Amino acid sequence: MPSVYIKTYGCQMNERDSEAVAAQLVAKGYSLARGESDADVILLNTCSVRDYAEQKALGKMENLAVEVRRNRPNVVLGFMGCMAQSRGRELIDRLPDVDLVLGTQKFHRAAEYLDEIFAGRRNKVVDVAEERGSESTIREHLLNGNSDKSVTAFVSIMQGCNQYCTFCIVPYTRGEERSRTIAEIVMECRELVGRGVKEITLLGQIVTSYGKRDIPIKEGKSAFVQLLEAVHEIEGLERIRFTSPHPKGYGDDLAAAYGRLPKLVESAHIPVQSGSDGMLKRMHRGYTRERYLGIIRKLREVKPEIGISTDFIVGFPGETEEDFEQTLSLAREAQFDQAFIFKYSPRRDTPAAMMEEQLPQEVKAERNQRLLSVVNEIASARFQKFVGRKVQILVEGPSKKNAARMMGRTRCNRIVVFEGSERHRGQIMEVAIIRAGPFTLYGDPAIINLA
Ligand code: SF4
Repeated sequence: MPSVYIKTYGCQMNERDSEAVAAQLVAKGYSLARGESDADVILLNTCSVRDYAEQKALGKMENLAVEVRRNRPNVVLGFMGCMAQSRGRELIDRLPDVDLVLGTQKFHRAAEYLDEIFAGRRNKVVDVAEERGSESTIREHLLNGNSDKSVTAFVSIMQGCNQYCTFCIVPYTRGEERSRTIAEIVMECRELVGRGVKEITLLGQIVTSYGKRDIPIKEGKSAFVQLLEAVHEIEGLERIRFTSPHPKGYGDDLAAAYGRLPKLVESAHIPVQSGSDGMLKRMHRGYTRERYLGIIRKLREVKPEIGISTDFIVGFPGETEEDFEQTLSLAREAQFDQAFIFKYSPRRDTPAAMMEEQLPQEVKAERNQRLLSVVNEIASARFQKFVGRKVQILVEGPSKKNAARMMGRTRCNRIVVFEGSERHRGQIMEVAIIRAGPFTLYGDPAIINLA
């Protein structure tokens, strides 16, 4: 059987989709190639959120067409994911070496289409149609390349988004919100726990909208909180995370869940995008600065140790210096533990791309730098406060930078590296923090095992 290599661009949702496609292909007898040079099938799972990500994937495919196709004409080349969805056949017109274009509701059809291409029944396949029920097809797991050693896993709970923020292409590439059932998600989580998983991250483009249309509010709890409660019941599961929520969905029921559900870790990534009400309105975000800051206050009241991260966009069309200063002041007030800053990138067919008052690159770059220095200073001070304290970590495996050390994550989502060994993998431990780098904490080897 052929071997497959999938290169993933973009977010955790894309990582998860790639894993599910790889696992589906492995179940059909495919092997996983170590890299492009020994793969019979090379798939690029693409991202459309920024123009840069699209250009990178297009450039990569152009290289593959020249470098790989020239020596191995039978290699199958394909695009899948968001750019495949938004550009469809245009990709083959532009790059005739591409054999397969698989949209975001068609991942589960990869094996079927590859079979047809290998059998010579079809030359090129483009499928970007909508498919009912496709949200339930992202369910297979590889768990660390099939070695069954992973102690963390991602579970897709929904697809799509109905928010239509004016800068965002996701509602067009991922479609309308479609949620899986609680029973289905719990079954998948249970299976993962049976295979040794200790921590599950529930994934979706807008998880706080989970089940809004299909699952009624019960005792004041939204469908998403009901899902958290059901997953929390799973015996053997130690930790629950989720990403990405929308500030609009951070109701009192969700804030209270952090206090009630001990497996729900003290960590929240809540994209704010801007600190200016005028910009938030133009972005169609659906909340004000005050509402956002209120959520942060509420979460810190329930869990003072909570780690809060966010996303910002700088240089949105029409953003004045005054608007930007509102963003700087929000960053100071919110005291984020981590923040990801993006320079606004126009996406075709989105309302913001058509807005007048597009800002020059120099302004975006300058605001990016100013915001970066504010958020870095705050994050670094918050990081340093861990030195001398003991924290609880779940040990995930060897450190990526130095395989001789082990790496774990605190409940508030900070990476801790320490001198450990393979026997610590999967354990919940207490570690004394002796040093803090820019993004990593270093733990004392004198660890006390809690598990
Ligand atoms: S909430 Fe807004 S930014 Fe997030 S996926 Fe939906 S449209 Fe995009």
